[in-house]
Amino acid sequence: MNLLDKFAAQRALAASLAELGGVAPIATPMDEIHSATCATIGGRRTVLAGTNNYLGLTFDAACRAAAIEAIETQGTGTTGSRMASGNYASHRGLEKELAEAFGWPACMVFSTGYQTNLGVISALADTGDFLLVDADSHASIHDGCRLSNATTIRFRHNDPDNLDRRLQRLGDDARRALIVVEGVYSTLGDRAPLREIAQVKRRHGAWLLVDEAHSFGIFGPRGLGLCEDLDLLQDVDFIVGTFSKSLGGVGGFCVGRHADLDLLRFVSRPYIFTASSSPASIASTRAALRQLLDGQALRARLWKHAERFHAGAGRLGYRLGSRTPGPVAALVFEERAQAQSVWQALLDEGVYTNLMIPPATPAGVSLVRVSLSAAHDDEDIGRILAALERARG
Ligand code: PMP
Repeated sequence: MNLLDKFAAQRALAASLAELGGVAPIATPMDEIHSATCATIGGRRTVLAGTNNYLGLTFDAACRAAAIEAIETQGTGTTGSRMASGNYASHRGLEKELAEAFGWPACMVFSTGYQTNLGVISALADTGDFLLVDADSHASIHDGCRLSNATTIRFRHNDPDNLDRRLQRLGDDARRALIVVEGVYSTLGDRAPLREIAQVKRRHGAWLLVDEAHSFGIFGPRGLGLCEDLDLLQDVDFIVGTFSKSLGGVGGFCVGRHADLDLLRFVSRPYIFTASSSPASIASTRAALRQLLDGQALRARLWKHAERFHAGAGRLGYRLGSRTPGPVAALVFEERAQAQSVWQALLDEGVYTNLMIPPATPAGVSLVRVSLSAAHDDEDIGRILAALERARG
């Protein structure tokens, strides 16, 4: 067996995708991007209902202008890590703005959301510590655990009793345990039972990190996420977010109620050994953050679409991944072929969604993941629902 033989399954997958002809359902090529909600795919103008552009800010005039000005005044890239030559005033400025938004003393900005989880989880929990992680967590959380020297313990998805039992077994060591959950889960779009998880955390004296990648900008009066919405910020130790969804940029952040979060700068390898985010991305993110914090109108539009879609898809008989409406609405199928045929039918109708298949999905289900945006208009939602009705066959 040689070095490359192990890729037989991937070779077969690539060949089967090539055989399909037409537009690939994985890494779908976007030929031209016209707006936050419209692109040309396979030669036709298509409604984008499978991005993470929840507030639709990627084409916002102020965000674009800020990015252009940053390129003109600071250049295209920093060519260095935050710990070397890439620690610009704008990176520090964004950290200060995020910390102030939460009223917390510390914030670290990373180059991507993925690296944020990698860098924060692996550095916070070290030898002798414990990571209690929801089994359905995003790959970046699981990879952060792998990079850490701590002992990782998975608990059943959204099951606070299961978490409670696992912490119970740790006894006094629960005070060295970091619980890691997401606010809204990225594949099924379901929400964590954060109130119950916070209670378990308090009972055992453990620590809590919530990844609000899919809830920042969407929940809470100021858009700070599900913890703000549920009035739980005082129970949470660290919140992770990304710039690549509601904020329409690239990068990630961790805010902490403990000033010591700042010390991670000296030990977190995914923070130290990579170039910092480009000035353009930091600048557009700062402009987007201002709009997000003052974004009640954007949130109201997004929620109107999310509720209409959830009710409409349910009426059409689709099984949804979450009982409650939200920015992520996953249509769940037992058979991969069914999901693929619905995905294809939607694309043929000019609607782009995400096809997600095992092993990238929980419980081996196949999904057509629909995501809503404040930049959609009523007509877009009508078109997506009409396409779903025809795709039902
Ligand atoms: N956390 C969660 C829950 C995510 O869904 C994602 C991205 N899908 C990330 C982190 C990583 O963020 P980014 O794509 O900005 O690296």
